[in-house]
Amino acid sequence: MQHRTSRSRTRHRRAHWKTSALALTTCTNPACGKPTPTHRACRHCGVYRGREVLPPMGGDT
Ligand SMILES: [Zn+2]
Repeated sequence: MQHRTSRSRTRHRRAHWKTSALALTTCTNPACGKPTPTHRACRHCGVYRGREVLPPMGGDT
């Protein structure tokens, strides 16, 4: 039998949603140079490891 998730359990689970602080590095794009989380494409110019992998700014983010 499945138990109903109590309000307490739901809240405890959601307490873990927030992501821990990411290590920041400087964007690999010399034209940008903004602080960017490691292992993520830059949010400012969309470049990851010297290659543009995301549309820069705008879009649905
Ligand atoms: Zn950048």
